[in-house]
Amino acid sequence: MTQTSVQTTHYVPADLPTSIRHFIGGEFVDSVGGETFDVLDPVSNQTYATAAAGQQADIDLAVAAAKEAFSSGPWPRLLPRARARVLHRIADAVEAQDARLAELETFDTGLPITQALGQAQRAAENFRFFADLIVAQADDTYKVPGKQINYVNRKPVGVAGLITPWNTPFMLESWKLAPALASGCTVVLKPAEFTPLSASLWSEIFRTAGVPDGVFNLVNGIGEEAGDALVKHPDVPLISFTGETTTGQTIYRNCAANLKGMSMELGGKSPAVVFADADLDAAIDSTLFGVFSLNGERCTASSRILVERSIYDDFCARYAARAASIVVGDPHDPKTEVGALVHPEHYAKVMSYVEIGKTEGRLLAGGGRPDGLPEGNYVSPTVFADVAPTARIFQEEIFGPVVAITPFDTDAEALALANGVKYGLAAYIWTTDLTRAHNFAQSVDAGMVWLNSHNVRDLRTPFGGVKASGLGHEGGYRSIDFYTDSQAVHITLAPVHTPRFGGK
Ligand code: NAD
Repeated sequence: MTQTSVQTTHYVPADLPTSIRHFIGGEFVDSVGGETFDVLDPVSNQTYATAAAGQQADIDLAVAAAKEAFSSGPWPRLLPRARARVLHRIADAVEAQDARLAELETFDTGLPITQALGQAQRAAENFRFFADLIVAQADDTYKVPGKQINYVNRKPVGVAGLITPWNTPFMLESWKLAPALASGCTVVLKPAEFTPLSASLWSEIFRTAGVPDGVFNLVNGIGEEAGDALVKHPDVPLISFTGETTTGQTIYRNCAANLKGMSMELGGKSPAVVFADADLDAAIDSTLFGVFSLNGERCTASSRILVERSIYDDFCARYAARAASIVVGDPHDPKTEVGALVHPEHYAKVMSYVEIGKTEGRLLAGGGRPDGLPEGNYVSPTVFADVAPTARIFQEEIFGPVVAITPFDTDAEALALANGVKYGLAAYIWTTDLTRAHNFAQSVDAGMVWLNSHNVRDLRTPFGGVKASGLGHEGGYRSIDFYTDSQAVHITLAPVHTPRFGGK
């Protein structure tokens, strides 16, 4: 089975950089030892730039700059309103260049341009949100009448190490940068090596907005080199990581030596559970978008769809027909709905799961490279039905445009299927029965649940997963909690009873 609806041109943005450098202490620099790595675009799979490949020495310089800016610079000491003004200027700058950002992001990642534009706008919103939050921040006080007043003295932790993945890179970087900077931390960002292009824009955006030198530092590089050096650096007290579960486990072990604060946003294999009483049209629209938007390279993708048996055949037929009509093609074409996967290595991984799926389920749509797109990392939106819960395509994160559909008979069976994987990031429940919806939501192993919707998120809500999907929650004040220490200060208002040791 192949894709019929394709777009075939290949757009290359003007003024692409040919070299991508680090940004340390307010300067664009190469690696101390001159190391570089190649950066490909996912449509031609040709190298369009080389990026500086950070090593221990580069991380040392970046951490030293961030440490100096934290201990001696103005940033952690600014009034919240003053930091918020800078963050709003960052948001203004991101909004003002959202089209350029989207163009570069699309070129580097293969994400469809309309979706990349939405991600750029979300990045701006992250800065506005955390700017507003710190100005409105209220901390706790506790009164013990006549005896004590206790208050919380919130302090930025120090140099935050931020390590990010290649899916929606700019937006995910903003998700860490905005609260870290809002809290008064200084940062070293290590973006994903597949997609360093959009991250290179932060440096100028921050400088123009008035972020002091050394507050924001960017070191490009390979995870096992630059990322590892950042994780192990003794002057970096906390690591915020988004990426694969196995990488998270390695980082977790490596943080142990210095007992670092960690926030881990990891992989997912999220279920969408469609009961027979659901609004089927809405459920089909939503579960198609939920797995095929962002090329399926989405941590919260509804990549397993569990459907009540009485509507199963109808659902599968309608779902597959729609999947087969999805427009796959040049990521820069506004009509494109699924673009090119980020990198040939990832493409090979997704394609291997497509082949595995053919032995594990009934292929209803897609199943390989689309017709008319002989080059580039294109995969037809692929739908497998009758997938057993033991199947690898049911259990393992594919992170591409591939979905597994499985029938169920009872609520209990649906719950067992939903919870029967190692992950627990998101769940999507489709039913018009309010009691069932709430009971299911409370029993499902997922950090985030949507009832009758795909992933539409208010920035105040907690974001994160359970089980193998993560550790800790960010979002709203939880992000500020992560980047700050809550020091308790106890004020004595009356004589304190003290047992007189040694007083006989
Ligand atoms: P990845 O784990 O391969 O890489 C993520 C980052 O970690 C990259 O910057 C990489 O260079 C770095 N890294 C790799 N090895 C390292 C090491 N030993 N020490 C320090 N850093 C290291 O992940 P990816 O392939 O870039 O991204 C896809 C994954 O991210 C998927 O599993 C997806 O579900 C997950 N993800 C999760 C969320 C979430 O919020 N839960 C959001 C987006 C993506």
